[in-house]
Amino acid sequence: MTEPTNRLAGLKIDFGGGSPLGGISLVQTPDVALAAGGPATGTDAPERTETKVLIIGSGPAGLTAAIYAARANLEPIVLAGSAPGGQLMLTSEVENFPGFPDGIEGPELMGRIRAQAERFATVFVDQDVDRVDLSARPYRAWARGIEYRGETLIIATGASAIWLELESEQRLRGRGVSACATCDGFFFRDREIAVVGGGDSAMEEAAYLTRFASKVHLLHRRDGFRASKIMIDRIYGNPKIQVHTNTEVAEVLGDAKVTGLRLRDAQDGSERNLPLEGLFIAIGHRPNTGAFKTWLDTDEKGYLLPHEHTASRIPGVFIAGDVADHRYRQAVTAAGDGCRAAIDAERWLEETAATSQTGGLAATA
Ligand code: NAP
Repeated sequence: MTEPTNRLAGLKIDFGGGSPLGGISLVQTPDVALAAGGPATGTDAPERTETKVLIIGSGPAGLTAAIYAARANLEPIVLAGSAPGGQLMLTSEVENFPGFPDGIEGPELMGRIRAQAERFATVFVDQDVDRVDLSARPYRAWARGIEYRGETLIIATGASAIWLELESEQRLRGRGVSACATCDGFFFRDREIAVVGGGDSAMEEAAYLTRFASKVHLLHRRDGFRASKIMIDRIYGNPKIQVHTNTEVAEVLGDAKVTGLRLRDAQDGSERNLPLEGLFIAIGHRPNTGAFKTWLDTDEKGYLLPHEHTASRIPGVFIAGDVADHRYRQAVTAAGDGCRAAIDAERWLEETAATSQTGGLAATA
């Protein structure tokens, strides 16, 4: 296993191993966030602050956009956030990203994609964006008081899983607690696990996890589900799934790894322990849109809304990855989006140079 390089400094990485999620896990690391107003780190003066393509976000979408923009000689600047790398920094082994037949640790994959972007002269600034001004070109973003300007802007700030926010849940993240069945389900072959949530995500994840687990407990805090009827019927019809309604997780049990749950009855407050080895939280995701939602359109769930391909409603501002995608949420789809956004930005720059068009729109709020 490779030590993370300096470019990923600042992240707390636990190499202790011994967890059902493989030998690496991040502990107590904040969600990869470029949340407006979040803490910024790093003191290095940036190499340059003006670019043809300014990219906010450094998950698979932002980094792939950087690779494509840099190879098109657009000299991108990536405002990568104080915890760069996106959600894969919080993931153990990744086995579904093409090109790695033996799998790869999430942080290592992100380190490699970043190295690829750096090879083609991308400037990285590992600081959080506090605010943006998209009223006119060049588009401006501020990080730690420094203003960055881009002729185009690619927003790739991702989404963060919502957690129960229990101390024990956070402590055991990557040690049996996960928010991504597609990423981590495989590691629970023949084990007993639980999924929390009552929406379509929880139903989908519980059904998916029965491919691996010997038994899946679906825990929901209420009687009624938010999920669609067809998904609920599938869950009740699956012999490997046991549904527990009116059930809250009071504590995730375990020291080095998950050994069980302390459950609370939401109606009478009584508690009981349920021994198992894994817990999947499926209570929704929150797109990281804080700095942008006054400027750009969002859908009913709060995700940024591309207008045509990756273009937003503001000419020259593009959107890529999970910040606009609550459906697929995969590293490979985010990377594909980053590629599309960079190509769209490049073409837009060419067309704009030809027509001397000006972009920018007033904020809506
Ligand atoms: P969601 O519909 O918002 O459901 C979240 C669930 O988590 C709710 O049941 C909620 O309980 C529960 N929850 C929230 N906070 C909780 C907490 N602190 N403790 C315990 N439980 C908590 O989110 P989602 O399931 O991720 O779905 C998001 C959207 O994507 C939905 O529109 C969904 O239809 C869509 N989606 C569709 C598919 C599909 O069609 N294949 C698959 C996945 C998602 P309460 O009900 O008590 O509030």
